[in-house]
Amino acid sequence: MKLESYWTASAPAFVPRGGELPSQCDVAIVGGGFTGLSAALALARRGASVVVLEAGERVAAEASGRNGGHVNNGLAVDYAQVVAKVGAERAKAWYRAYDQAVDAVERIVRDEAIECGFVRNGKLKLATKPMHLEALQRSADRLIRDGVDTDVEILQAQRVNDEVASDRFVGGLLYRRSGQMHMGRFALGLAQAAERHGAQVHVGSCVQRLDRIGRGQAHAVHTNRGTLRAQQVLLANGAARHGGYGSFGWLRRRIVPIGSFIVVTEPLGEQRARALLAARRTYTTIANIHHYFRLTPDHRLVFGGRARFAVSSPQSDAASGDILRAGLAETFPQLGAVRLDYCWGGLVDMTQDRLPHAGERNGLYYSTGYSGHGTQMSVLMGERMAAVMAGDAAANPWQGRDWPAIPGHVGPPWFLPAVGLYYQIKDRLA
Ligand SMILES: Cc1cc2nc3c(=O)[nH]c(=O)nc-3n(C[C@H](O)[C@H](O)[C@H](O)COP(=O)(O)OP(=O)(O)OC[C@H]3O[C@@H](n4cnc5c(N)ncnc54)[C@H](O)[C@@H]3O)c2cc1C
Repeated sequence: MKLESYWTASAPAFVPRGGELPSQCDVAIVGGGFTGLSAALALARRGASVVVLEAGERVAAEASGRNGGHVNNGLAVDYAQVVAKVGAERAKAWYRAYDQAVDAVERIVRDEAIECGFVRNGKLKLATKPMHLEALQRSADRLIRDGVDTDVEILQAQRVNDEVASDRFVGGLLYRRSGQMHMGRFALGLAQAAERHGAQVHVGSCVQRLDRIGRGQAHAVHTNRGTLRAQQVLLANGAARHGGYGSFGWLRRRIVPIGSFIVVTEPLGEQRARALLAARRTYTTIANIHHYFRLTPDHRLVFGGRARFAVSSPQSDAASGDILRAGLAETFPQLGAVRLDYCWGGLVDMTQDRLPHAGERNGLYYSTGYSGHGTQMSVLMGERMAAVMAGDAAANPWQGRDWPAIPGHVGPPWFLPAVGLYYQIKDRLA
């Protein structure tokens, strides 16, 4: 079993044109994940000189290259609960932002001719308990009644069992607008498109500190490869913790980096894969400690979950792989001793309300906090932040949200095991 992401292992790495860092640019982007690359593409198309600074040796090798491969619409949290908190108008706008985000991925894939197997087969949210199905029903009723998403449909146990070969599920909620793709291939195509349109992408370039130059708007961007002057800066650094605390501390006090883990089976063969998940959708179970899965075009099962409340590391990933193997066997016992070819983990940029945050603070623009629901939102927000940086504040669907720091969260997330225990107990009692 390889302790690396299937998506990065099975796609060619993007090789940037490279060269020296320029001494100045219009926009410096900290981070070459989907947020940063999408922003670079949009800004370059607008004619700006853009430099993407990626700390790692490969773009999109953190969350953007380590995820479950789902490009789902719908909020990460229950729509009805969001309505109760912020009112129908804002909740609708936020729900629609996810539709627009899936559309944005589809549009870029088409316009830039990216071969990443993007398909819209829908997402099925699966209930393991009758009370979960009732909650899904309430959610669907509300979405349809408010006219937010009339494409959703509740599937009762029999219909779920017709397409998911597991007896664990009592029903589910189908979101027809959701998609899926190969994340490594999308990353390659997105980075190539950004470069083709004029953006510079530099890997191995860690931003260590950011300083305002004089009283003006420009910033000195200090990296391990030298300093450049940028008129504007976009922080697109996700949950990864590179660079000094000083310039990134404000964001880090608001984001909890939670490990999520994934295993990928050997190729199952077309027949066996079809017998397992006939409709080839993306699937998530509803529980605080949940599972998510899908098939790949070469008929492997990608099976993930928050196996342990821990941060990702090779040891932690392997231990989580064992837990996921047990979850996989419980869900699909017919797979028996199927071989696992890949196992990895990544950091989810979780916020307290599990919704994104984006805006500008002290002259630095930022977009983050997608909370495990970001393959599509990161791509949309890259585009939207490009518009915001050009003066269109209304382009940001998440503008004007309060974002207090998480009390006691000043260093590594020491409280994760306690949070994990709390959710395990909650799931057992639910
Ligand atoms: C295991 C896992 C499963 C997931 N599954 C799904 C899913 O199925 N569907 C879904 O919608 N979402 C999923 N997500 C979430 C989704 O992948 C992320 O929300 C999204 O990719 C975030 O993109 P990003 O560009 O903001 O961050 P990232 O992809 O993390 O990119 C940030 C980049 O910034 C770089 N960086 C950080 N600091 C610095 C610095 N100081 N200088 C230079 N570079 C820096 C990092 O190296 C990194 O490459 C999952 C996440 C994980 C971890």
